[in-house]
Amino acid sequence: MFSSGQNREGGIVIAPASLESCPALVLNADYRPLSYYPLSLWPWQDSIKAVFLDRVVTVSEYDRVVHSPNFEMRLPSVVCLKAYVRPPRHPAFTRFNLFLRDKFSCQYCGSDSDLTFDHLIPRSRGGQTTWDNVVTACSTCNLKKGGEMPRVAKMWPAQSPFRPTIGDLHRRGRSFPPNYLHDSWLDFLYWDIELEA
Ligand SMILES: [Zn+2]
Repeated sequence: MFSSGQNREGGIVIAPASLESCPALVLNADYRPLSYYPLSLWPWQDSIKAVFLDRVVTVSEYDRVVHSPNFEMRLPSVVCLKAYVRPPRHPAFTRFNLFLRDKFSCQYCGSDSDLTFDHLIPRSRGGQTTWDNVVTACSTCNLKKGGEMPRVAKMWPAQSPFRPTIGDLHRRGRSFPPNYLHDSWLDFLYWDIELEA
C-alpha cells in the first residue's frame, strides 16, 4: 500500500534505511503522552492507519515521506488521540517498572550492575510475585539471600517494596530517560520538571 524506496516486502515498499526508526509518539487527547512507562510509541504503520481512521490528529511529522499510488504523506512523529483515554493510576508490574521504582540499584548493596529481582519472602515460603514482595537485586545478593527469609539471611532492602503510582515512576523516570528521543517529542515530555523541581 505504501512505498518509500526500492525493497518490496509483502506489498509494502520500504527503503533500505528502515522505517523502523520512525515511530510516532502517541499523546492522549490532553496532549500528554498516553503512557510513559513504557513510552507510548507506535510503529509508522499504526500511526498512518490511525490517521486514516481519523482516530488521531498529526501534531508533528518526520521529513520521511511514504507513497501509495494515490497519495503521499510525511510520516507522523507525534500524533494525538481524538478521544481521551483515562490513564491507569498504577503502572503495569513489569521488570522495567520494577527497576525504575528501585532506581536501577540493588536494594541490598546498591550495585547497579547485573540486576535481577528478588522475592523478599521467598516463593518457596509462599511469597508472591507482586509489587510489595519483589525488589531489585544484583545477582550476587539474590544468590546470597537464596530461599531465606530476610531476618534469617539478615538482608533487608533499602526501601520496603511498594506498589508505585504512575507519578512515582514519572518522578524517577526523569533520572533515567529513554535512550532515544526524537526532537519533536521533547515538547510533550518532562514538561512539568521545572514545576515540581
Ligand atoms: Zn547486591
